[in-house]
Amino acid sequence: MSPEEMIERTRQFSIRAMRLCEALPNRPDAWHIKSQLSRCAGSTAANYRAALRGRSKAEFSAKLGIVEEEADESCHWLQTVIDADLLPAARVQPLLDEASEITAIIVSSLKTAKGRRRPQQTHDSKQSAIRNPKSEIPRIGHGYDLHRLEPGRDLIVGGLKLEHDRGCDAHSDGDVLYHAVTDAILGALGQDDIGQLFPDDDPRWQDADSAIFLHEAFMRMSAEGYAIGNLDCTVILQRPKLGPHKPEIKANLASLLGCAVSQVNLKAKTHEGVDA
Ligand code: MG
Repeated sequence: MSPEEMIERTRQFSIRAMRLCEALPNRPDAWHIKSQLSRCAGSTAANYRAALRGRSKAEFSAKLGIVEEEADESCHWLQTVIDADLLPAARVQPLLDEASEITAIIVSSLKTAKGRRRPQQTHDSKQSAIRNPKSEIPRIGHGYDLHRLEPGRDLIVGGLKLEHDRGCDAHSDGDVLYHAVTDAILGALGQDDIGQLFPDDDPRWQDADSAIFLHEAFMRMSAEGYAIGNLDCTVILQRPKLGPHKPEIKANLASLLGCAVSQVNLKAKTHEGVDA
């Protein structure tokens, strides 16, 4: 199989994994699997492409090592989907077989890479890769959100329900932190914002769990071949104190975004009694 064919094969694998993720049930126990599977399948394709652009044999082997890890992790999550009965095994097995075959091909390529020149792309495809290296260029997005606090509403921040006598007045569950992070990711991608994707006059999103919005942003990010580098958030809230809840909120964000907790930072400010 030529390098160009393998680029296409891993890309098709990534797309099929995304489709499968979309078919997974929309409930909390499947969200983590969704985010992890879409991340590692997308990374398999993106890193194979990047391997062929490596400037040295060492760089080629290093990238190929990442492809092996990501393809193998894809096997793990696909097997988990089957074991947890999240989808019929007959639907998942073909993709699991493809992930296993890709892993085997990459393992074989790594074994033979030593002492060999890395595969050479044709002039046309190499030019194309150079013109379109978007997953290699970091992008930064900014998100902001503000909600009024009203009695009779739950106060939900970062997927966590906080004990308080009022909550955010919003069409959805009013999770300002998830909303802001969703917009930051969409902004980095240059795509529609949260209000355009999930209009506040659409009954489907009334009292909706905002993890749905953040998960959609994550899926779009993964589909473009990107992953979280780091996330730095500031929540302005006079009451209640957010400090004790930081670890749980950071873990929620990391889980939804398919990254380590160490890549997520959360700061809490009171705004000194001024409008918060
Ligand atoms: Mg909002």
